[in-house]
Amino acid sequence: MVKYINKLIEFLFPPACPLCDSPVSIHGELCADCWMGINWIENPKCLKCGYPFYGDFEFEDTPMCPVCAAGKSELDWIRSACVYDDASRNAMLPFKHGGRIKYARFMSRAMIWALRDIDIDADVVMPVPLARRRLFKRGYNQATLLARPIAKAIGIKMNIDSVRRKYRSDMGHKNPKQRYENIRGVFSVVNPNNVRGKRILLVDDVMTSGATFTEMRRVLIRAGAAAVYGVTFCRVVRTT
Ligand SMILES: [Zn+2]
Ligand SMILES: [Zn+2]
Repeated sequence: MVKYINKLIEFLFPPACPLCDSPVSIHGELCADCWMGINWIENPKCLKCGYPFYGDFEFEDTPMCPVCAAGKSELDWIRSACVYDDASRNAMLPFKHGGRIKYARFMSRAMIWALRDIDIDADVVMPVPLARRRLFKRGYNQATLLARPIAKAIGIKMNIDSVRRKYRSDMGHKNPKQRYENIRGVFSVVNPNNVRGKRILLVDDVMTSGATFTEMRRVLIRAGAAAVYGVTFCRVVRTT
């Protein structure tokens, strides 16, 4: 029965690119033009934080950015599928603020692809939580929508209720220092038994300054987490 209903839905709503509506072969996939418009992060990149390197570089076996080489990385490792620019923002903003939750499909697939070179030993997948007030207003946590298919693909459990986030006004357009100050103390572990000894893969839509991941890591490690990793759809890459 479900099969026939799916066929009917496919007939009534043929698969279309979620960004431009041109026909595609599979529901939720991007068309070739939109796919090529996104700046996907390829190699070479920092083995630890996933920061992409552009231009001609000569690397040893383990390419590392100056931040990670100095031992100052936010997490044990981070991967992002693409660079935060006009093209990815065109997908991100409607997904996050405009109810375009169908974008979760291609975004999460790209994030799973971004994890391909990692031997994942995480025990749980944890979306970065939203404050309740925001969750109520938006109706969904975009990070949870991305985390669910990732957890399924790597075969580990989701953990969505162990950390709570206090409401703070938006971080938009603040500099990195202000972002760190604004996020300090917003997260609290409410269920330490689900955190202690666990290796946790954090999921978020975008990584800007790294302040959110750094603060999540701080509270998780303090609550006894064994390791904290991160994956995002896109990340800010400074080209200077
Ligand atoms: Zn398209
Ligand atoms: Zn790095």
